[in-house]
Amino acid sequence: MSNPDLLSHFQNINTWKSKGTRAPHKPLLMLLALGEIQRGNTGFIPYTSIEPRLKDLLLDFGPQRKTLYPNFPFTKLANDNLWQFNKPELLDTRQDYTSKFLRDHDLQGKFPDAVTQQLKQNPELLKSVAESILEQNFPDTLHQDILDAVGLDITAEPAAKTKQSRKRDPLFRESILKAYEYKCAVCGFGVRLKHKILALEAAHIMWHQAGGPDVEVNGLALCATHHKLFDLGAFTINHDLRMLVSDEVNGLGANEWLLQHHGKSIQPPQKKAFYPDPEFTIWHVNEVFKGGYRDL
Ligand SMILES: [Zn+2]
Repeated sequence: MSNPDLLSHFQNINTWKSKGTRAPHKPLLMLLALGEIQRGNTGFIPYTSIEPRLKDLLLDFGPQRKTLYPNFPFTKLANDNLWQFNKPELLDTRQDYTSKFLRDHDLQGKFPDAVTQQLKQNPELLKSVAESILEQNFPDTLHQDILDAVGLDITAEPAAKTKQSRKRDPLFRESILKAYEYKCAVCGFGVRLKHKILALEAAHIMWHQAGGPDVEVNGLALCATHHKLFDLGAFTINHDLRMLVSDEVNGLGANEWLLQHHGKSIQPPQKKAFYPDPEFTIWHVNEVFKGGYRDL
């Protein structure tokens, strides 16, 4: 397979369910496996080593669910022709297998040999694949955290940049900042250096990657810190624009950045027509928010 073909093979894996429901299992397993190749490990990876790491990744970067299912991508990625097993005779990938089964039979997996070799011989291709998986599945604010968690280094820009992200409206940022009068909707941050606006960002409520549109009712102006906390699910916004903080938040700065705003209204946009649409805030509650609500 040529390098562009391999890249588009990875890009064509469907990792979203209907209506923007998140299923980041395959993307996180692929990133984990890419990290292994980048560190020179081209052999099979035991499920017993993948399971705890994938669970942590799903807890930190996946939607909050009752069950995490790290076993799911380990077998299903084979249906995309991107995974092979040490004991293929034990598995029918149309079936589901429990983690216990995979552990008890010492099942191990990896990208197919040809794919592994191609990625190993083309470090830039490996970086492009990792970058495109991130762009398709996670907002920019989380990319570096995920790379650190899987041990991938894609800092050097790929020589032939193959960005294929969906077209974003270049005016989105400006329209959101204007709607919120150039201040963070949570803390009011709006520092400028001379005329330049600093560390103030336009956040999507329903992620761009989930099909969230570039419109005012799907945006919030947030300072860099509140943007990241919002994308990680440390807080959300409810239908009457009150900020609700996760009961799992703790540590130094939690009070200052989050708890003091809990249950209070965010600073609303300048027009009623720009108020966040419940369709998008509900998505954020279901797909991004972590933990439970604190008492009001
Ligand atoms: Zn802020």
